[in-house]
Amino acid sequence: MKILVAVKQVAALDEDFVIGADGRDVDAEFLIRDLNEWDDFSLEEAVRIKEAAADPVEVVVVSIGPEEADEVLRKCLAKGADRAVRIWDEAVAGSDPIAIARILAAVARQEAPDMLLAGVQSSDHGFASTGIATAGFLGWPHGAVVASLAYTSGEKSAVFRRELEGGLLHQVTIQCPAVLTIQAGINTPRYASLRSIKQAAAKPIDVRNLADVGISAHEVGEQGSLSHVRRMYIPDKGHAQLIEGSAAEQAKRLAGIIRAFKGEA
Ligand code: AMP
Repeated sequence: MKILVAVKQVAALDEDFVIGADGRDVDAEFLIRDLNEWDDFSLEEAVRIKEAAADPVEVVVVSIGPEEADEVLRKCLAKGADRAVRIWDEAVAGSDPIAIARILAAVARQEAPDMLLAGVQSSDHGFASTGIATAGFLGWPHGAVVASLAYTSGEKSAVFRRELEGGLLHQVTIQCPAVLTIQAGINTPRYASLRSIKQAAAKPIDVRNLADVGISAHEVGEQGSLSHVRRMYIPDKGHAQLIEGSAAEQAKRLAGIIRAFKGEA
């Protein structure tokens, strides 16, 4: 049995930062990279299913990203993943979440897992769509924002719970293979031991390019994406002022402000 876990290397802002020259992202120099918080929970969920299983279960982590994403894949290997796959090609840069999902679906077709886990969202871009879009490409059933999961390796279905409004719960049975997006807090992710970190450093990472997964360059990147970031910016701060005085004075002052705003004398 196999569980595929999609993990993203996300960027957090350093204390001070500047927007890059193209005006569409933070300058890479000012970003601190790490494993997406939600993906830590879905990896832990997969490793727990493996540890509870009577039969062997393989946990495979997959990330679409440049070489630096190896760091998060090694972290996942240290936390219990058996194998790590990284997909990259220069043409992937600028992909929207749907194009990323197209690649994840291609990897899922190759790996043929019994279950694909993704995070509900990524902490840097927060599209909250990649996992569900991957299910769409695969034609697999999906469950979003999973807050608890009961899945025994080898079973043809899983039962999960979603928290709804007003304290209500949805308990759902889903046929496998399925895509589940895992909510933060579903478990307590483990820390990797020093020993496992050292072992993970020596493990190979299976790097594949677009051709290896049967995707062509025009299906990804800017040209394969239907949404494009136009610019990233810090909005102007609003202004506030306290109007003091009697009611009549305040009304007069307010009327003056409105006239000035409308460009009247
Ligand atoms: P998002 O749709 O960007 O909010 O991300 C939701 C989830 O999709 C993440 O928690 C990951 O499981 C997965 N995901 C997004 N981007 C990538 C990526 N580049 N590589 C692997 N998985 C990804």
